[in-house]
Amino acid sequence: MTDLRTGVRDDFAEVFDREPDGVWSSPGRANLIGEHTDYNEGFVLPFAINRRTVAALGLREDRTIRVGSTFADELVEVDLDALSPDALQGWSAYPLGVAWALGEFGADLAAVPGFDLLLDSNVPVGAGLSSSAAIEGATLLALNDVWRLGLDRQTLARVGQRAENIAVGAPTGIMDQSASLLGQEDAAVFLDCRTLVSEVVPLGLEAAGLEILVMDTGVTHAHATGGYKERRASCEAGAAALGVESLRDVSVDDLPRAREILDDVTFRRVRHVVTENQRVLDTVRTLRERGPRAIGELLDASHVSMRDDFEISVPELDLAVETAQANGAIGARMTGGGFGGSAIALVPTDALSRVLVALDGAFAEHGFGQPDLFTVRASEGARRES
Ligand code: ADP
Ligand code: MG
Repeated sequence: MTDLRTGVRDDFAEVFDREPDGVWSSPGRANLIGEHTDYNEGFVLPFAINRRTVAALGLREDRTIRVGSTFADELVEVDLDALSPDALQGWSAYPLGVAWALGEFGADLAAVPGFDLLLDSNVPVGAGLSSSAAIEGATLLALNDVWRLGLDRQTLARVGQRAENIAVGAPTGIMDQSASLLGQEDAAVFLDCRTLVSEVVPLGLEAAGLEILVMDTGVTHAHATGGYKERRASCEAGAAALGVESLRDVSVDDLPRAREILDDVTFRRVRHVVTENQRVLDTVRTLRERGPRAIGELLDASHVSMRDDFEISVPELDLAVETAQANGAIGARMTGGGFGGSAIALVPTDALSRVLVALDGAFAEHGFGQPDLFTVRASEGARRES
């Protein structure tokens, strides 16, 4: 982390031939439980991870914006007056989209100066750990400071979501940005996606001798396309057929009636969302009353629901989950949008090496590419570094 922070300062000086005004950072996130519930106005329980994107930013005296990333060769340059979501593409749509979206939330873009921005990151890209929210969070916090906007973090999360929806064109909910901006050390963020009220829920993992293992299958997902949009459409269709505004208004007790009204596929999509909302509530209560060692069954049930009802898992994710479960994990589930990406497992520290060895063996045996395996800690959200 120290390296990333000082590195981005040095790189900024080299690329822009000047010093930055400051360095800001924001983390990726993993979702403990609550998948595909956010856009149904339901509940999620993500946490910020100890992998971050850092942003060095310096204001300019003119109205030019220049953005660079250690991930990309080119510098992208645009005039503040020409900032329009239609004109943005590629990776720079994230930081530039955020600048545009701040204008939608009350920033007077006609009155602020341009800036130079350089990004670096150790959040794996496209692994389901939300490298996108990490860029948005770091850029948002930086611009909120230097443009003196005074927006609170809940609002910044909504700005990030707007940027991702409109400027990037990915129809995602607000979970990722909330986790990245609101996360705390050794805690998860319990978010009600209808009211946007959030609450920090202590995890107590270290005290319980538990690790969170990320198992990145390396299978790439296509968030902006295909399956994700289809699932969203099914949820909307299900809510409409049931006569409710969103699936948030359907409870587990309503499921028998839903089964009579809906076709089989729509019913199973609805059942996932409805039971997943209940599992999030149960996880929060269990964490508070019994501690993290008691949430394993809820994680396992979440995976089964995504595999069988929502049908967003892939063989690599199922294998990762089953292998972790069979070798000492307390619970495991795929995390993120699905169709690839990562699974997480809650593993007692003393069982970790056995789980790692078993995963390597199982993936080799099935002829799958080796997964990337690493533990993450629940960490602090976006912050100014220097
Ligand atoms: P995820 O958020 O799960 O990692 P997304 O598809 O939502 O995956 O976002 C990944 C995209 O974000 C990348 O394709 C790239 O455009 C952009 N991105 C992520 N990290 C960086 C970075 N450090 N520099 C530039 N662009 C990045
Ligand atoms: Mg993303």
